[in-house]
Amino acid sequence: MTYKKTGKCSLCDGKYENYGNNPEPLKRFEERCCDECNMNKVIPERLKGDWKEGISEIPKIMCEKCKKRESKVIFCNDTLAFAHGFQQNLCRECYIEKIEKELKGIQENLIKQKKLLIKERKSK
Ligand SMILES: [Zn+2]
Ligand SMILES: [Zn+2]
Repeated sequence: MTYKKTGKCSLCDGKYENYGNNPEPLKRFEERCCDECNMNKVIPERLKGDWKEGISEIPKIMCEKCKKRESKVIFCNDTLAFAHGFQQNLCRECYIEKIEKELKGIQENLIKQKKLLIKERKSK
């Protein structure tokens, strides 16, 4: 596993440098965090528990919808929501379900819009 030298802090969305820090147990180690978050958030959290690097089981992020399967997808409505940290952790199954639902909605809307267009053209 190689980390990017600089990137986005997974805790405050700020920038991390020098490969960042391990944000466990707040986030999985693959996600990095900045020095400030490491000092103010990660370390106090570690001191609360018996977390030791590389020893403890990293709690898996579970799907927020079914709460049964491990989250595989971080879903975001749009970039604005993302900037505000509004995101949903979903498992693959729930994400597919969500896409199918949205797709159905889009298809229904398309049919509706086409019908309206025909109506509008006729009434001219
Ligand atoms: Zn940070
Ligand atoms: Zn799920």
